[in-house]
Amino acid sequence: MARRANPLPHSSAGDVLQLVRDGEAATRADVARLTGLSRSAVAARVDDLVAVGLLAERADGVSTGGRPPMRLELNAGGGLVLAASLGTSRGQLAVCDLTGTVLATRDTAMAAGSGPEAVLSRLPAWFDALLADEGYDPESVRGIGVAVPGTVELATGRAVGPPSLPGWDGVAIAPVLQRRWPVPVYVDNDVNVMALGEYRTRGDAGDLVFVKVSTGIGAGIVSEGRVYRGALGAAGEIGHIPVAGGRGVRCWCGNVDCLEVLASGRHLVETLAAHGAPVTGVRDVVALAGAGHPEAVRLVRESGRLLGEVLASVVNILNPAVVVLGGDLADAGDPLLAGVREVVYRRSTAVATRELGIVASRLGEQAGLAGCGFLALDRILAPEAVDATLARHAAQSRPVDDAVPA
Ligand SMILES: [Zn+2]
Repeated sequence: MARRANPLPHSSAGDVLQLVRDGEAATRADVARLTGLSRSAVAARVDDLVAVGLLAERADGVSTGGRPPMRLELNAGGGLVLAASLGTSRGQLAVCDLTGTVLATRDTAMAAGSGPEAVLSRLPAWFDALLADEGYDPESVRGIGVAVPGTVELATGRAVGPPSLPGWDGVAIAPVLQRRWPVPVYVDNDVNVMALGEYRTRGDAGDLVFVKVSTGIGAGIVSEGRVYRGALGAAGEIGHIPVAGGRGVRCWCGNVDCLEVLASGRHLVETLAAHGAPVTGVRDVVALAGAGHPEAVRLVRESGRLLGEVLASVVNILNPAVVVLGGDLADAGDPLLAGVREVVYRRSTAVATRELGIVASRLGEQAGLAGCGFLALDRILAPEAVDATLARHAAQSRPVDDAVPA
């Protein structure tokens, strides 16, 4: 998370909430110390945040004599955010609280591959059904995060030519949802969102590279608490870096011997099927490797090595604290991790690997949903957004005859 180097006495209520959300301030005294605000100014900001349901103040169980200090917390129940992770073969929906905790999930029969009309026209009804089934108030929705498998133009929330999603090029996703919920809607690439979800779940554990190894291969980069998207939102496309040892096989992107051609789940399915193994999808490959099928284990490990070739360079360039492997093929576990570690620890520089962790995703298939929640929360709970919410609230609750000076 971004740190404020120099807290100033004009810190707003939004700044105060950010301090609490970051875990830097737990009491009014902490806020006063960190911001330089007077006690009465802190009290005014805390009261405003409590009034709009964003902050909760609770008696701390532990008392050392005298009045126990009141603990400030982000009010988890002060609203809901909706999350939709749209994949090429399936979609997942979730309801999250304001801390990003996933409260309820639903797998849907929809697939982004079935085209934008089919998915978007039904998405609001699917969310409504999920809220109703779980007993949540649809009026409590404060924001929505959506992930799609392709590059996303962040400013407009439009998908940009995702090859795996026919018909989605240029489709604006937010307006459809905003007709049902007039709240901020944010759309991002699925791997970026998974990286964000994984980063937040790990606490502030340092820069992170999340690699989704599934039908295709892609990476999301979190640097200094923010997703690094690059100039046009296309950062992290490691699946289209060529690797050595290929036989000149052309990738859909136009290059030959891309990592994705030689190491993706799609490649493993095709190779094993050609050898007569009973596989039709990536999950079958994982099951086969888990059961000790020698060819499946060998191929998964070889995928790990090829991935390691590319990641060795990524590690040299970015020097992340941790590389996280996620996506369906990551469920194959040890053979994949061992292949990646073998190459990265040998090929990257000593300094870049000294404290580097190469680990499996903690969130598994919930990484995308958790990330969609944070995609929305990080923006609707940003200081400027919170201050705008407070200003709207104040304008609405101001008496008509507003004669009392502030
Ligand atoms: Zn390619």
